[in-house]
Formats: sequence, C-alpha cells, structure tokens
Amino acid sequence: MNERLRSLPSVDEVLARPAVRALAERVGRAAAKAAARAAIAEARARLQAGAAEAGDPVTDARVLELGASEAAPRLRRVINATGVVLHTNLGRSPLHPEAVQRVAEVAAGYSNLEIDLRTGRRGHRSAHVEPLLCELFSAEAAHVVNNCAGATLLALGAIAAGGAAVVSRGELVEIRVPEILSQSGCRLVDVGTTNRTRIADYAAALDANPGALLLRVHRSNFALVGFTEMPSVEDLARLARERKVYLLHDLGSGALDPGLGEFTAAQSLREGADLVLISGDKLLGGPQAGILLGRRELVEKCRRHPLSRALRVDRMLLAALEATLRLYREGRAAELPALAAIHAAPDELRQRATKLALALIERGLAATVVETEGQVGGGSLPLRRLPGAGVALEGDAAALLSELRAGTPAVVALLREGKVVLDVRCVAEVAELASAVASAAERAGQRAASPESATLDEDGTEV
Ligand SMILES: *Cc1c(COP(=O)(O)O)cnc(C)c1O
Repeated sequence: MNERLRSLPSVDEVLARPAVRALAERVGRAAAKAAARAAIAEARARLQAGAAEAGDPVTDARVLELGASEAAPRLRRVINATGVVLHTNLGRSPLHPEAVQRVAEVAAGYSNLEIDLRTGRRGHRSAHVEPLLCELFSAEAAHVVNNCAGATLLALGAIAAGGAAVVSRGELVEIRVPEILSQSGCRLVDVGTTNRTRIADYAAALDANPGALLLRVHRSNFALVGFTEMPSVEDLARLARERKVYLLHDLGSGALDPGLGEFTAAQSLREGADLVLISGDKLLGGPQAGILLGRRELVEKCRRHPLSRALRVDRMLLAALEATLRLYREGRAAELPALAAIHAAPDELRQRATKLALALIERGLAATVVETEGQVGGGSLPLRRLPGAGVALEGDAAALLSELRAGTPAVVALLREGKVVLDVRCVAEVAELASAVASAAERAGQRAASPESATLDEDGTEV
C-alpha cells in the first residue's frame, strides 16, 4: 500500500495534464488546483482504506467533475419540496418578482439611500419605508435593522441597558431570550413558571425591581397547551402604565393579516405595547429584516443608539422591503409567494402533484400521488398543519435524496416511511422539478449507494 501511496501524482503533475490545463483555462488556476488536491486526497483515502484499484487512482474525469463543482456558486437556488413554507434553512420567504426587480435596480447602481432628493441633505435609511410601515401597522414610528434578533438586541440595549427586564419563564426561548438579554447589558428577571404566569408575578417583580422593563416574547416555535395561564398584552400594558415602565413585545411573526391566526403587531400596539419587534422574512413575506414599531420616543432612542449603526440595513434589503410593503398597500399581498404557498387550496395542490407524478411516470419512474402535511415554518404557527399533496418515489431513498441535493437546481425533499416524498406546496415550477428528479434518479441508479453511509433522517424538516 505504501508503494501505491507514493505513486500518487503530485498536484503539479495533475495540473500539467492537458485535460486539467484546459479546465484551468475555463475555471481559473485556483479552482483547478483545488480540484486536483481534492481528487488526490480522495484517492489517498481510498488507498488507505485498502481499496485495490487497477489503473490511475486520480482520473481526469474526477478532476474535471470536482473542478466544475469548485467553479459553481456555493450559495445557489434550491427547489423546496419539503412543504415547509418559511423554512429557515432554505432562506425563509421567497421574494415577489417586483421586489426582485427593485433589488436588481438599486443594487446595480447608486441610489438615494441616505440622501433626501428634495433638499439634497443627508437622510436616514429607514425613511424610505417608515411611512409605509406606520400606515400598514398603525404605528407612530418605525425603524428597520438587519433581522429581528438584532432588533431585540438593539431595543433592549437602547431602552433597558443597565436595568432589568421581566420575562415569564414560559417565554424563555433558547438562544434568543436569555443570551440576547445578557448581550444587551440587561438583567433578566424571570417570573412565574413554565406553564403559568400571572399578572401578580409581574407586579411582584416590579416591586423588587422598580423601573424594570416588561418583555413579552412570542413563543414562535413551540406552544403551551393544557393547564396554562398568561396575562394578555392588554393586562401587561395596563400594569406597565400604572408603574410607568415600558412594555416591549418581541413578536417575530410579522403577519399583517389577522386571518393567518397569528397575533399581529397592530393588535399588540392597539393593546398598549410600547414597542413591537417583527421579522421581515416570516409571515410578512419579504426580505430578512428586523422591524421596530411603536412610540416615537422609543423608536428614536433605538435609531440613535450605536448598535443601530452596527445592525444597519443595506440598500438591497430596503428595496425588497419597500416593494413588499407596497404590495400590501395595493391590496396585492396574496401574490407574495410565501402567502400564496400558505393559502394554496388542497385541490390545486393535488392537481399540481398529479401533474408532477405524470411527468415522472412518463420518464419511467414509479411515482404515486400522496397526501402531505405542510407547515408554515420559521417559528410561526407551530401547531398549524397545512393539508397538501406530494409525490412519493420508489427506489433507494438515501441515494436519491443525496442526488437531488447535488443536482442543478438542487432539490430538498422529505423522507417518509423509507420513501422520498416531494411536497409540491412551495414548488412553482413543476416541469423543472420533474427534470431535476429524473436526472437525480438516473444518477442514483448508476451509483452503487452504500447503505452504511446513508443516514435516513438527514432530510428532516428542521425549521
Ligand atoms: C423568528 C423570531 C425572532 C428572530 O427573528 P430573525 O429575523 O430570524 O432574527 C425573534 N423573535 C421572535 C419572537 C421570533 O419569532
């Protein structure tokens, strides 16, 4: 084996081969070199594992294949066949075509990002979306930062740093709450128990910590059911007013339409929250963003805080957010891809799944239409199941899932009872998905998949 290892070609030898020189011409020397290195490393690993191979262990074909993947973008498009609409791992909410167009326009050149074109004076970035946000959410003032976790950090840092924030134990969501609180320089005072917190618990915490802020956190990705008790936003707001402290609501979801079943920011403000924080790319259906809505003096305090500079948004985000908000203003929110996917009718989804199954059967695959249960995802409406439809495929599921992910476009699908299932809820292009699946199946069939290396639950629908 040592002799075989010593006989492996060097990187320079591989780079000097005519096929690899041609590769370097196409994709650049750096990518060709990385591909040569990777091919040699693969061959070494195979030899060390005791493989007895005839011929050159570093083939031109493998170097070219690795070279092509080196040259392909790492961040790329994926067809979401999971049925989870706001899938955090897949980028949450897709943008509306008009938002995409506005991003392209603003990204390609200069813009009035921080200049008031009427006066020629310096303006602030949020000004482009603040009037729309105030109108849509019935808020006095608004500010936008990079994401909602950033908005929470900023709001706590600007309003409560050095002080305390009172939070129910039933709302101490991992990562977000205790960690962000401590990073913002604010002391956590937890009250109540996991399932029950009464208004008297908050009042007692304010007795012991006068001037503390009340923080309500939306539970997002889990629900409390059964014997539970939690004061309403209205109750908390009344207590906050009595004690002359602020009520901050980390709401997350960003739904504008109460029909979605999520408590909305407008409702929270109406019930008396002083500042409400939401995400741009959850139920609002726009780009990643953290939106602060509420009383003018608090919003201004956040805007002027140094963290606001660190969390500031770029022009592409603002362009996408403005376009998304305009769709709401024009009464066209149903066109937003995330909302369209959530509201898709079961009949329409069955038709889409049937179309996909037929296209796959035509290509010689064994495909069956099945019922599915989608989810909203992104930590919104954790209990809501979306009855939908999909296509189940026969064959070696682990190999197929892996080839689906490796294709262009990549496809992320589900594994159900040992079968690959393609949920069509979030699939706009059925014909494109059918071709991607057909070529993945062909590659999976050609490849001898080793069952030991396959992990069957790797495609779980983590949100
Ligand atoms: C999702 C969520 C966040 C985090 O939002 P990002 O935009 O992902 O940073 C914060 N708070 C709540 C309640 C959420 O649901």
